[in-house]
Amino acid sequence: MKYLVVGGAGYIGSHMVKHLLHAGHEVVVADLEAPVQGLQWVCLDIADGHGLDTLLSDYHFDAVFHFASFIQVGESVADPDKYYLNNVCATLSLLEAMVRAGVKRLIFSSSAAVYGDPEYVPIDEQHPKVPINPYGRSKWMVEQMLEDFDRAYGLRSVSLRYFNAAGADPDGQLGECHLPETHLIPLILQAAAGRRESVTVFGHDYDTADGTCVRDYIHVADLASAHALAVEYLLAGGATTAFNLGNGLGFSVQEVIETAREVTGRTIKVNQAPRRAGDPPRLVADAQKARSILGWQPGFTSLQDIVRHAWAWELKYPWR
Ligand code: UDP
Repeated sequence: MKYLVVGGAGYIGSHMVKHLLHAGHEVVVADLEAPVQGLQWVCLDIADGHGLDTLLSDYHFDAVFHFASFIQVGESVADPDKYYLNNVCATLSLLEAMVRAGVKRLIFSSSAAVYGDPEYVPIDEQHPKVPINPYGRSKWMVEQMLEDFDRAYGLRSVSLRYFNAAGADPDGQLGECHLPETHLIPLILQAAAGRRESVTVFGHDYDTADGTCVRDYIHVADLASAHALAVEYLLAGGATTAFNLGNGLGFSVQEVIETAREVTGRTIKVNQAPRRAGDPPRLVADAQKARSILGWQPGFTSLQDIVRHAWAWELKYPWR
């Protein structure tokens, strides 16, 4: 198959590209950043409809994977315009170009942030969608647009609602690096590696066993395998839908730090800080739908494996 991966130079997108190439597919990356060397790469902003028209008419893609989005909750509160412009308007530009070109299958990176403060956990796909910040609203707006685009134009899509993407390529070629880094596991490992003084824990007074937030960490390689199954589902005629992607296991911030101490054997200095705005106490997925409909089986469900792979990458590329 021939696939376009928008945002294929990013953390999850690059793991996806590797997965697709390994499975023998032809892949073109559209990204403002260059992906790893040797890939077919188009430096393109998806807000550029003319650029997209050229790209989509040059290649006849069987499907598009869309990973390009801003992802920081706090930033989205401070600068919602940036989030609606990129995550919603630029995605609309992509959808319009896909309709013009007759490309009718999309795998969309959505988020557990569409649910807002959970009314119950584990969270299934039926849970009310009441996002509590512009980031979550931008993802939910796109999901709703996708439903409408299917009804009106026959563009079928799968929205994958990630819980906490984490870990690194088990082969050690790819890993997680955001600038600035805001994610818990990379920050903890940077502290373990001595690249950072300490890690700050946001909130000790949540209604959880140890008072710190509980999250469902899902290995990036398992996210990639779920996307590959999702596109097969669409190719087989599957209807537009959304799936949660998580392990169904919750780990507190404190437990993640303890696991990192075990895995790395290093001292990790911890500071305490007040709660971070917009953080629900507990986010844990019910991903039964992806398991039963897509046949998805995550391979790296232990937090030790997730942290071990991330640590191997941290040690391999300490200069980045
Ligand atoms: N967190 C923390 N310190 C940090 C970064 C994150 O205590 O420096 C906490 C955060 O409050 C949340 C969890 O770790 O409960 C995961 O946060 P992350 O930013 O990695 O992912 P998010 O849950 O926001 O998608």
